[in-house]
Amino acid sequence: MMKTDMNNHRSYGLYIHIPFCARRCLYCDFVSSVSDSKVIDRYVEYLKKELSMKLKPDDIITSIFMGGGSPSVLPVAHIEDIMAYIRSLVDIGDIEITIECNPGQVSISMLHALKKCGINRISFGVQSLNDDELRLIGRIHDSKTALDSIAMAESVGFTNINADLMYGLPNQSIESFHRSLDGILDSGVTHLSAYSLILEEGTYLYENRDRYTFPSEDEIVSMQGLVLTRIKEYGMHRYEISNYAIEGKECIHNMSYWTRKNYIGVGLAAASLIDDVRMTNTSVMSDYIQLIDDGKLPVFEEEYLTREDAMAECMFLGLRTTHGVDKKHFYESFGIQLDDVYGEIHAKYTGLGYMVDDGKSVYLNDKGLLISNTIMCEYM
Ligand code: SF4
Repeated sequence: MMKTDMNNHRSYGLYIHIPFCARRCLYCDFVSSVSDSKVIDRYVEYLKKELSMKLKPDDIITSIFMGGGSPSVLPVAHIEDIMAYIRSLVDIGDIEITIECNPGQVSISMLHALKKCGINRISFGVQSLNDDELRLIGRIHDSKTALDSIAMAESVGFTNINADLMYGLPNQSIESFHRSLDGILDSGVTHLSAYSLILEEGTYLYENRDRYTFPSEDEIVSMQGLVLTRIKEYGMHRYEISNYAIEGKECIHNMSYWTRKNYIGVGLAAASLIDDVRMTNTSVMSDYIQLIDDGKLPVFEEEYLTREDAMAECMFLGLRTTHGVDKKHFYESFGIQLDDVYGEIHAKYTGLGYMVDDGKSVYLNDKGLLISNTIMCEYM
């Protein structure tokens, strides 16, 4: 049973997965497909059924994140319907509510409608402001559309806007990345997520990787360095390996993942973490519908984390953030001192200059975040 507060209220972030896109990007391995309106209508109907199975009137929802796929591919009436349905189940109050949007899939009237139904944060999948790079990865938008979409959201009154930016793209140079970075920061966004392209097996880009020229490792390190320098000039700070924000605009929902708070996911392939049980929904649409029709949760996999698993997860998620892992919180969660479990690892990396132990918490500095994958392996 999920941990509750003193009044027996369950508290969690809510993730809603919308597994549809206008077109598959060439690097994408997310659970998403191009579907017709009948499939989309039916999915929304079942999404609501799953919501009614999982949400309880006394719950405290701390944030909502509608991601995908491309939620902006939904007719806005569906988004309004989902939000109204959640409100009919739980009193959600004034919380962060994010929607992921593809540039080019928003209009002034749609943005007004999103705002009216309580959505207060928009995350745009910009990825690059170089039209050749966008074309090579199969995005549906160009740079002008991306900047116009951000400007539209600002004009409608959104004050919490993220843009995703990718480095390591085919044909990308340090100069073109620099121009994309500056263009995005100039647009007035309050949050930046800068990710490296990962070539996932089975994607078009992976299968055809020999036909493309990718930036070298050294160039990618330079691009990461550029992000660190430029964000400061725009008044942002780094708060997670790949995430940067103006003070107070950090993503509350994503922070709840990195600090291992409870979250409930609904929709195809959505994951939930409830105390130390991780549940993942099926990613097969017909199974999703059948399981719900049978009155069952559409869960494909359940994983019961051991105390050791949970402690390790606490470390490699917490160390993604610049706050790191709080020693008091670790002790309260696991009943053992952080130093007694991982003291040797921390002595090694503080000695090498990658980690800081200030007595209250341990965290990676910029140098440590650069080799975080190596350090995280120590906890597994
Ligand atoms: S928009 Fe996002 S989810 Fe959709 S295909 Fe492109 S990368 Fe994948």
